[in-house]
Amino acid sequence: MHSPLALRLCKSALAANYHHLCTRSGTVAGAAIKADAYGLGVQAVARLLLAEGCRDFFVSTWREAAELGFLEPGLLSVLHGLGPDDEPRSGVRPVLVSPAQVARWKASSWASEPCDVMVDTGMNRLGLGFAELDCLDGLTIHTLHSHLACADETHPLNQIQLNRFCEIRTAVSAGRYSLANSAGIYLGRDYAFDLVRPGLALYGGIPCPAASEIEQVCTPRAQIIQLRRVEAGSGVGYNATFTAPRDMTVAIINIGYADGYRRAFSSLGYAVFDAADLPVIGRVSMDLVTLDASAAPGLREGDWVDLEFDLQQAALQTGISQYELLTGLGRRFQRTWI
Ligand SMILES: *Cc1c(COP(=O)(O)O)cnc(C)c1O
Repeated sequence: MHSPLALRLCKSALAANYHHLCTRSGTVAGAAIKADAYGLGVQAVARLLLAEGCRDFFVSTWREAAELGFLEPGLLSVLHGLGPDDEPRSGVRPVLVSPAQVARWKASSWASEPCDVMVDTGMNRLGLGFAELDCLDGLTIHTLHSHLACADETHPLNQIQLNRFCEIRTAVSAGRYSLANSAGIYLGRDYAFDLVRPGLALYGGIPCPAASEIEQVCTPRAQIIQLRRVEAGSGVGYNATFTAPRDMTVAIINIGYADGYRRAFSSLGYAVFDAADLPVIGRVSMDLVTLDASAAPGLREGDWVDLEFDLQQAALQTGISQYELLTGLGRRFQRTWI
């Protein structure tokens, strides 16, 4: 079935980002593919990264793990661990995050299988505390993780978390140790250990200024439903927030905030057609956006435009994080990898 909105996804950019992060970290890079691979489509992303040599994948929940049955055993971990209602899957490791989860795993029929463990080193989100590490005795820990709270900025907590993680590494024996997310990779190789766990930067997000080599992976595109003439002085869109300064041609395209093209792009974003910039005018609606088509006199109904979606720039302009911009991309896009 025809879809009037699409995500153009670039295989070579995803691959380049993956290899760049491997090189930069100096160790093995896995991939956080939770939340449908940050909105890009988890099945395709996992297959493409697998082909690039990625052997460690992270989702948040067992339900997400169930969509990845094609991964061979041992490649996938579930970051939220083993809750009271979860049923583990063979070949998938829980990342146990609390003494209660450790006890649940030990009491299960899976207890002799390898698991991962998350320790808290200062973020106070998921993970076992320093004083709780004794409960890990008897587990076969495949990978011991912690997670950085402030890796995307210069912050004293980074060094504190690194020091604590080093201490834990000497106290708890595990097959591998892993601390860094995308931004953490750029803190330096001290933070890399045996495995890094990027998400954002794989998908074209720029986690910190040093990550300028990261390539954009994803471009939203939408088809023009209607071109119309607007007379000087009349308003455009909800609440008539834009008033035409002159007679002009506008293009109404098939995308809106329900697709993750956020309302914050109202009178701020723009689309590109044939190298011409077409600014968004007025409010972004649920399913529609109006563009000033003045710069592209050749535009026709049915033509496709690319929405400008430089994540770093868009985040700066809108105050919406790069993570939210990506993970908000909705279900109505046809996702096409080229
Ligand atoms: C989501 C997540 C990551 C990836 O983080 P990015 O900032 O997207 O690179 C890594 N580790 C854990 C535990 C996560 O939850």
